[in-house]
Amino acid sequence: MMAARGARAPTSEQSWLEAAQAFIQETLCPAGKESSVQLTQLVIDCVKTAWLSQARNQGFILPLSYSFVSVQDLRTYQRLPCCSHLSWSSSAYQAWAQEAGPGGAPLPRERLLLLGTLTDLSGDLEQECKNGSLYVRDNTGILGCELIDLDLSWLGHLFLFPSWSYLPPARWNSSGEGHLELWGAPMPVFPLTVSPGPTTPIPVLYPEMASRLLRHRSKFRFVHPNLAGKLVRLSALVNSHRKTYFVLSLGSSSPAVSHVSIVVQVPAQLVWHHALWPGRSYVLTELRMSGICGHRYRVWTTSPSSQLLPLKPECVRELELELEGPLLEADPKLLPVPISSQDGTGKKGLIRNSRLLSYTGMVTSVLNEPAGLYELDGQLGLCLAYQQFHSFRRVVRPGACLELQDVHLLQSVGGGTKRPVLAPCLGGAVQVRGFSRQKPKTQSSHQAHGASLYEQLVWEHQLGLPLYLWASKALEELACKLCPHVLRHHQFLQHSRPGNPGLGLQLLAPTLDILALPDSPIRNAQKEILEEPHHCPLQKYIRLQTPCSFPTLATLKEEGQSRAWASFDPKALLPLPEASHLPSCQLNHRLAWSWLRLLPSAFHPAQVLVGVLVASSQKGCLQLRDQSGSLPCLPLTKHSEPITDPRLTGCLVRTERFQLIVERDVRSNFPSWRELSMAGFIQKQQARVYVQFFLDDALILSVPRPFLRSATPSGHSQAEPTHPDGLHMGQSRLFLLYHKEALIKRNFCAPPGASLEAPQPTLSFHVSGSWLGGTQRKEGTGWGPLEPQGDEKKNQKVLLIFLGSSVRWFEFLHPGQVYRLVAPGPLTPALFKEGGSSCISQRPLELAGYASCLTVQDEWTLELERCQDIPDVLGIEKALPESSMTDFLSGNFTDSLVSFSAEILSRTLCEPLPAPLWTKPGSPGAARKCVKLTVALETADCGSLPHLCVYIEDPHLPPPLGLLPGARVYFKQLEKRVSRSHNVYCCFRSSTYVQVLSFPPETTTSPSLPHIYLAELLQGRQAPFQATASCHIVSVFSLQLLWVCAHCTSLCLQGRCTHQGPTCPTQTSVSQANIRLLVEDGTAEAVVTCRDHHVAAALGLCPTEWTSLLECVRVPGRVALHFTGPGAQLESSAKIDEPLTLFLWTLCTSLSVLRPILLSFELERKPSKILPLEPPRLQRFQCGDFPLLTRVNPRLQLSCLSIQEQEHPSSLGAFAPSH
Ligand SMILES: [Zn+2]
Ligand SMILES: [Zn+2]
Repeated sequence: MMAARGARAPTSEQSWLEAAQAFIQETLCPAGKESSVQLTQLVIDCVKTAWLSQARNQGFILPLSYSFVSVQDLRTYQRLPCCSHLSWSSSAYQAWAQEAGPGGAPLPRERLLLLGTLTDLSGDLEQECKNGSLYVRDNTGILGCELIDLDLSWLGHLFLFPSWSYLPPARWNSSGEGHLELWGAPMPVFPLTVSPGPTTPIPVLYPEMASRLLRHRSKFRFVHPNLAGKLVRLSALVNSHRKTYFVLSLGSSSPAVSHVSIVVQVPAQLVWHHALWPGRSYVLTELRMSGICGHRYRVWTTSPSSQLLPLKPECVRELELELEGPLLEADPKLLPVPISSQDGTGKKGLIRNSRLLSYTGMVTSVLNEPAGLYELDGQLGLCLAYQQFHSFRRVVRPGACLELQDVHLLQSVGGGTKRPVLAPCLGGAVQVRGFSRQKPKTQSSHQAHGASLYEQLVWEHQLGLPLYLWASKALEELACKLCPHVLRHHQFLQHSRPGNPGLGLQLLAPTLDILALPDSPIRNAQKEILEEPHHCPLQKYIRLQTPCSFPTLATLKEEGQSRAWASFDPKALLPLPEASHLPSCQLNHRLAWSWLRLLPSAFHPAQVLVGVLVASSQKGCLQLRDQSGSLPCLPLTKHSEPITDPRLTGCLVRTERFQLIVERDVRSNFPSWRELSMAGFIQKQQARVYVQFFLDDALILSVPRPFLRSATPSGHSQAEPTHPDGLHMGQSRLFLLYHKEALIKRNFCAPPGASLEAPQPTLSFHVSGSWLGGTQRKEGTGWGPLEPQGDEKKNQKVLLIFLGSSVRWFEFLHPGQVYRLVAPGPLTPALFKEGGSSCISQRPLELAGYASCLTVQDEWTLELERCQDIPDVLGIEKALPESSMTDFLSGNFTDSLVSFSAEILSRTLCEPLPAPLWTKPGSPGAARKCVKLTVALETADCGSLPHLCVYIEDPHLPPPLGLLPGARVYFKQLEKRVSRSHNVYCCFRSSTYVQVLSFPPETTTSPSLPHIYLAELLQGRQAPFQATASCHIVSVFSLQLLWVCAHCTSLCLQGRCTHQGPTCPTQTSVSQANIRLLVEDGTAEAVVTCRDHHVAAALGLCPTEWTSLLECVRVPGRVALHFTGPGAQLESSAKIDEPLTLFLWTLCTSLSVLRPILLSFELERKPSKILPLEPPRLQRFQCGDFPLLTRVNPRLQLSCLSIQEQEHPSSLGAFAPSH
């Protein structure tokens, strides 16, 4: 950079010398003085000496390739880090650069000559400006510098700096200053006068005596002694209560002798901090004794005339003092050590003590600069946050060597930190022992911001180290999730002020509030440094269990998917007893859809969901977004209401309670249950992942507005007008929403002038409602009247069509709410009046009584209006309308639309419903799918919960989010249909509205069935639909066992499919069975049908017996027995003399079948069947000689759900099998 300023590049010795003279005159000569020939000569001599110190350079007297640089020029022109080494050869520089340290580029070399005065004065010549910092000054300016081994006699002298590096301010920190790192000793331009040692030895006190003197009330209180000793401890440079100071402790070479602390707070002496080396011995002169506010005993402090001198034994003599007076107090070391209150608590065993040690090592990595986190020697963590380390930030980078005195070592702090951490408190100094040779890496902006927030965590929130490390990590994690698209880094990591907390801290606060120690004391710097025994926040710690993590949404999604597929097991989804009787087609349908719910506790550590809530203008659904992607979501309010306020869009959502739902769609072709463990039969699998949560469980934070738009990919998806003047102009109209139709692809005719291509179905929805009042005009922040109200009786019904990016409003619109439709921009007369822009306005919709039909434009917005503000709406019924059971089960087809709330019992994929007439013939049947929901209706006028099937077909697939087993859902305007067997079922249609009322409960307990008497089933609708009864098997009516082809379900003879025509691809057969029994319990009797594996239970066979029985049937293919009545003869096509038939006949008439059982059943006649009940019929009985005619209720028809043996130990004998 500097080399490019070619005008100064000297071409010969003469011009170099002329340039040097001009430079020295301008930059180094004391202002106001005439040119000093002597100074110029001295400077050039000094440069020559340095230059010629390298033998290689002897050929050239002058460093012609070097040019002088002033402080001003460095600051102005040098934008890149660089270094300059005057006497070095290229190979010397190469060798130096080789050792730059791992993973870093060395500082590039510039050929620059730097001279200046070394000083600790930052600006004016006032003492108060001294704060311990070092500077290089010339006539053009001043620049902060660091020097490793300062000789105090150098201050105020002009030097040539032969070796240095310059680091300009970081790019993000435009107001910052660059700084110099001065390598090696500077070369004085004027010879330094070496002060002759004192003529007489200085009288000194050694630490032990100085320490005793402090505690002694004696005449020596007023002497200002000199202290000599070895530097055993050096505190950090502390700035507290507007006072800067540090404390050094002198001891003797024998460690048994106590050390004595000296407080240095005279501004001119703060620079000593640079010159002091622990382990070296010093003399401090003219010390004073002083008390410290809030401190028990007195300390030594320096006086303005104090000096720091190296200790030379020959120049001192010990001062003899006779201490006779009484001690002021006991030696503090002899006092009992106060027991910390924390030790008494239950956490006692968990509290660890850190170790104090000294350590010298090289910084190998910057982990988080604003948080003060570094890596030392590739294996240790270093946390500088518990010191005031601003001045270190610029020096501490990879390659820098640090000496840490009295630093705390904390091991296994937990919270995700694996390595041991060194953390200095205020009691120990961090000293730079070697500068980095590396060029600083360009920081990304998240590495640059947040320093004040991190300081706040330590100094205001008093976080202990384990929690601080975790919080820094969590903030980084969150910043990666949200910055820069959602928020700028500086916004996210901004310092929190009362009433204006930073967003980063708000997201962490719920966790920190739980974990932060409530009674951690406010740090007192003086106590922390001086008090014995040492007490500081780093001294004791408790290993932190990682409280939670903030995964990206993409990670959460991947994790959900991988867990869903890892846990996908066809055998677990289909228990064997049931699966073994299913033909291929049913088997595969049963596997086609399944779901998995993951709660935050399923992850370690627990996961916290954080994202910005947005409404997709492509899909219409709600999503959480972060930098990594988006995740569809289904939020509900506390009262099971959907969210209605569009202002939630763009808010940041943080919740620890959520359900991560993975819906698995599997296409498989398992031939039969035997192959279920073979993954090869899975043809396709895909998963749909989304989250469900309650808004009340979540922290909702609004995000500064300008960043909202960039959070969504499509430009106009946010509620912002596109033109700037639109902010102040606009019109709006209120409407009350009656009904919202499904969000599906619909056909629209192309608007006039559009391309003639066949119109594509467009994702859209309609809402119907009624205007409330007329159009209003924007007036300031509110809305004023624009149009007169008009005729009150005029039809105000309106149909609003949402398509294109307007579908983003779908999730916010719900019946019964009042919304304001806002059109930004200049006023357009009659904008909300007629549906001129809509091409379906003239369709038969008008017949339905709509006065107008309007297509909502992309830039229009919606606002939720509170109903209590609008008198017209007060009378509106807020309850969700429901159809009555009578509507349901009546044969009345004039109103085929029904509405109800129900709990979803199961969800399966099934064969498509019989195709409606209008579907195109020839569409491949295999591609069509149909989702079947079995729901339990929640109706007021029925004792039990009737079950009903709801079918969802294209274009309603995939079904809306949240239709999961266990969820409660409100369905409006489902189409009611009646099957051939007179059962009622429902189908989605385009006007159907669905609203999830509750999520599946997190703990599912299957409710036990009521235990009843069979007679209770005769009470019509009040009877339960499913129940358990203790009853007795009276007789068997029929029994059928058969083998069918798993592929086509035709009968199999001797294991071969009997299907006529093309043979089936596999010769796999499955067994099927059914039995019809008569049972009674003393109150009534019922015919029970059992199928498949329930037949084994009915016959009282164990699994092996059942399997071998079925194997016997394989050869004939089918065995069927019919009995004419209780105990009657066999009425069968099969011959009784066949052993198998005989065995079954014997079994069915034996007491091992005709026994007491516990039967769980459901009514075979569905409550949704619409035929009326059969009336009781007359039946003739023979009672002795008398024929009786009596009215008999129709026999109950039940389907078996399970059969268990009765547990009656006393009756076992009576019913024990007799054969
Ligand atoms: Zn400490
Ligand atoms: Zn077949």
